[in-house]
Amino acid sequence: MEESSTSAIPKVEVKAMEMHRSSSRPQLDVSGAAIQGNFEDRNPTILLPNQSDDISHFAIDLGGSLIKIVYFSRHAEVESELEDHNKRSPRTITRRRSPILGGRLHFVRFETSKLDDCLNFIQSKNLHRGQSFHERGISGFTDGEPIIKAIRHEAFTHMEGHKEFVQIDQNDLFPYLLCNIGSGVSMIKVDGDGKFQRVSGTNVGGGTFWGLGRLLTKCTSFDEILEISQGGDNRSVDMLVGDIYGGLDYSKIGLSASTIASSFGKVVSENKDLADYRREDIALSLLRMISYNIGQIAYLNALRYGLKRIFFGGFFIRGHAYTMDTISFAVQFWSKGAAQAMFLRHEGYMGALGAFMSYDKHGLSDWTANQFVERFPMGAPYSGGKIHGPPINDLNEKISWMEKFLQKGTEITAPVPITSPGTTGLGGFDRPSSREGLLRSDASANLNVGVLHLVPSLEPFPLLADPKRYEPNTVDLGDPSELQYWLTILSEHLPDLVDKLSLLKLVYGCCLPNKWLEGNRSLDSLNTAVASEGGTDNSKRRGDAFARAFRAHLARLMEEPAAYGKLGLANLLELREECLREFHFSDAYRAIKQRENEASLAVLQDLLMELDSMDEEKRLLALIEGVLAANIFDWGSRACVELYHKGTIIEIYRMSRKKMQRPWGVDDFDKFKERMLGSGKDKPKPHKRALLFVDNSGADIVLGMLPLTRELLRRGTEVVLVANSLPALNDVTASELPDIVAEAAKHCHILRKAAEAGGLLVDAMVDNQEEDPQNVSVVPPLMVVENGCGGPCIDFRQVSTELAAIAKDADLIILEGMGRSLHTNYDARFNCEALKLAMVKNQRLAEKILNGNIYDCICRYEPAV
Ligand code: ADP
Repeated sequence: MEESSTSAIPKVEVKAMEMHRSSSRPQLDVSGAAIQGNFEDRNPTILLPNQSDDISHFAIDLGGSLIKIVYFSRHAEVESELEDHNKRSPRTITRRRSPILGGRLHFVRFETSKLDDCLNFIQSKNLHRGQSFHERGISGFTDGEPIIKAIRHEAFTHMEGHKEFVQIDQNDLFPYLLCNIGSGVSMIKVDGDGKFQRVSGTNVGGGTFWGLGRLLTKCTSFDEILEISQGGDNRSVDMLVGDIYGGLDYSKIGLSASTIASSFGKVVSENKDLADYRREDIALSLLRMISYNIGQIAYLNALRYGLKRIFFGGFFIRGHAYTMDTISFAVQFWSKGAAQAMFLRHEGYMGALGAFMSYDKHGLSDWTANQFVERFPMGAPYSGGKIHGPPINDLNEKISWMEKFLQKGTEITAPVPITSPGTTGLGGFDRPSSREGLLRSDASANLNVGVLHLVPSLEPFPLLADPKRYEPNTVDLGDPSELQYWLTILSEHLPDLVDKLSLLKLVYGCCLPNKWLEGNRSLDSLNTAVASEGGTDNSKRRGDAFARAFRAHLARLMEEPAAYGKLGLANLLELREECLREFHFSDAYRAIKQRENEASLAVLQDLLMELDSMDEEKRLLALIEGVLAANIFDWGSRACVELYHKGTIIEIYRMSRKKMQRPWGVDDFDKFKERMLGSGKDKPKPHKRALLFVDNSGADIVLGMLPLTRELLRRGTEVVLVANSLPALNDVTASELPDIVAEAAKHCHILRKAAEAGGLLVDAMVDNQEEDPQNVSVVPPLMVVENGCGGPCIDFRQVSTELAAIAKDADLIILEGMGRSLHTNYDARFNCEALKLAMVKNQRLAEKILNGNIYDCICRYEPAV
């Protein structure tokens, strides 16, 4: 709760309890370890009863209205998954581990009146055992700053129904005013790291709104009063300028007729009782009165100290569009546009985060946005509010909870049309336009703030030409029509998912509606996911839960596209992968991948012989054509699924290669050829090191990228194959690559020697009895590194430390496939040469980016910036 100079609210004693501290780095004590469930986890929590070090700790902000908890758990899902994969394939390059363990930062809240629920939660999570506990201190309020630093899409503006994320330059953050609207209101001037001063406050805050609102409307919950306010019309309660001036504007002093002259002022002149007024009108008038007043006081304080930026936090805001619009309007109106109101996604957790950070001594305070991955797991019954239940201990319980959760009305049938925001004009305090904005249910509100996975082994890719301006997503889902298209594709056939489950048992890629498959992988994922698990009842149930979870996320995004931060196509695809993992479909395409790899490896030798019979120039073209042709094998595309019914993988590949016709949609082949082979007598210098970002298993890697790899090696270029850390669709993973290379090396001396030099074949049985036709003596190394990703796209702000390290000596990168070179990074520029290769398997993208047709190809060559 906020302490205010005029407030009667008692002050929370600033207190920090440190139950265990260690001067050295934390050590794990695994003696007596036992498995314990955890509702957000894919892997159950392992309870360490004898753990005495500060492996994890939590902070609590006991407010007048709400209790906020921030806790950190060290059992990093991503790390353990990576370990699993590495175990499966012993020849993966050795991982360099960060000395700081990864973990997760969770955000939970309870109504203060439901203290017992909060205590149960703490107990169920074992937060109280051998860990550190912190209450909020005033210092907590400064932590708008770490939060802005650590979370990429944290701050946003909200004007006339339009939410826009603000990228804040860390070097240009201070000074600012932080206005925390809790039960009471605190205004803090923040001048720098740890430099802050509480400059003002008001006792008319969230508690006032909720208290008066309850008396006047008889609403029983905070959300209910917000909800009814959306159907309100304040003109019946408020005295407007027009009421005084006969319905006219008071233009002399710039006030429009609809400007509120006096909140609730109309009541005075009317001889009515409370019951004569609509509850909705009262709720709206009260909300406007409080929000506007706070906005105005905040502005006056900003003016007093010469501050241009005001961040608003506290749970009063509750992500409610109308509240934010009203505050923004007040700040903009009074400052005549000079000052700007900004809001924070973790609006109510600043106090708890402050307490958490004030304790942190393990390097966590040095975290950066690159090391955080935000995830939105399903099911968080312990947030207080309507949906409530015991903690979920295992997947079964989670699935049951999902079933109940959906019955509570999150079903979606069709996308909500997205309209561009209207305007209100600035002639006074007119009505903000967000009144129609839906108030999220409590359950979906939990999706608004995700669990933050801290992965210390992530860092920015060092070859980005302009890291500050880098934007991975090519398609801007901020464009309503674009968003509508992709959400429609992703959601249109979701209602059919559950019905289809019973048929999915053994069918891989069965005939699916064309529209669905155009760019959509969900049904296909589900289909394959269930099949990969053998079609058991259990997997069907999980498949069903996956579909429900994904549907709920889509519904949320349809309702508010920016709910989870700035949304790009890459995020949507990643969300789907995460949903699959959440319901334990960790490698849905495993069987398909193996089958395709085997089929492709069987014809590799013939292909290599064919290539070797060509002259250098012809061969280079054949290699690039080969990469593009083989990129047709994408399980997320309709093309692949349809073709699969028509022929074998090799026939399709050959057909696809035959159909290659230049010029391609984007055709820089001649420039690339010039760079590789030169034009005159002087041969250009070969590249020193090439990073090949590979895409799919099967023909794509074996018949497309490996022959290109071999060519680069033959020219004396070191090659690093960069692949996904975690499975996503049929993408090849870093841990699968050594086996594939080992198989391929049986047919090729160059690959074998390079793989040996790169340490890939240390213990591989390469039975190669063939002659060495090229008589290759020295071959540069072929290496494999993981990219740090578990989705079909790549965000170069967050790659693995290994990739970042090995990239430093690279002078060529090759990005292959739609996900990495088109959905993301098509516009990215690098400090080294870049070649982007993809076959476009989506009509809309082909039209938009190439002005062409589906199956057009991209061969984009860019010299170093
Ligand atoms: P405090 O630390 O004083 O509790 P918060 O930042 O938690 O402050 O905000 C409390 C305010 O949030 C309440 O006064 C009320 O206006 C608003 N609020 C939002 N959701 C709820 C809820 N579910 N229950 C009670 N108050 C809520």
